[in-house]
Amino acid sequence: MHIDIITIFPEMFQGPFDHSIVKRAKEKGLVEIHLHQLRDFTTDKHHKVDDYAFSGGAGMVMMIAPVAKAIAYLKSQRTYDEVIYTSPDGELLDQPMTNQLSIYENLLILCGHYKGIDERIREHFITKEISIGNYVLSGGELAAAVITDAIVRLIPGVLGNEVSALSDSFQNNLVSPPVYTRPRDFRGWKVPDILLSGNERVIEEWKYEESLKRTEERRPDMMKNNGE
Ligand code: SAH
Repeated sequence: MHIDIITIFPEMFQGPFDHSIVKRAKEKGLVEIHLHQLRDFTTDKHHKVDDYAFSGGAGMVMMIAPVAKAIAYLKSQRTYDEVIYTSPDGELLDQPMTNQLSIYENLLILCGHYKGIDERIREHFITKEISIGNYVLSGGELAAAVITDAIVRLIPGVLGNEVSALSDSFQNNLVSPPVYTRPRDFRGWKVPDILLSGNERVIEEWKYEESLKRTEERRPDMMKNNGE
């Protein structure tokens, strides 16, 4: 998979993309992530990417020209499955959307800033708008990092045996059951006996029941999707 990200703060991605699973995926050659500085596509000497809103009021708006130039340049290199804009009014990111995005070959993500981007960018260049939650971030970088992380861990071969994407929360519309590791007893707080029984079938049943119970208690909204 190839992911291009257009941003005015490429340095913000250094932490999230240089550790753990995303780092491993890059090292294995399963994903290539390229950061593109939007200011490199400006033509004025101040590398300006924002301007006053025609509607007046507080806040600047990201200009169309540098974004158009950046997208045209990137599109000349490859064909994108989706050109994504991170936006609080976009479609809410969830596991089914992440699963869908993970089967694509080429993705482009545009990170917004200020009061947002000139509406004509959204109309003419963007094919998918994604929100990571009902709150407002200062910029699209953290959202793009979240989207990328959620996608990359689903690419076949990225996760090792110690973790399996299929047993994560939200696959099957259920949250994960509780998990435990050594010691069996910490200050008298014990690991459930069933997990130490060695009986695979009983353990699987227990996990499923716990998942169901947790989903009912914590995420009753998800149960609606389970036909209950
Ligand atoms: N005035 C805008 C918010 C702009 S926030 C509004 O009220 O809708 C600046 C940028 O941060 C946005 O352009 C977007 O790219 C990003 N952003 C903010 N909140 C986000 C969220 N919940 N999900 C994804 N991107 C978000």
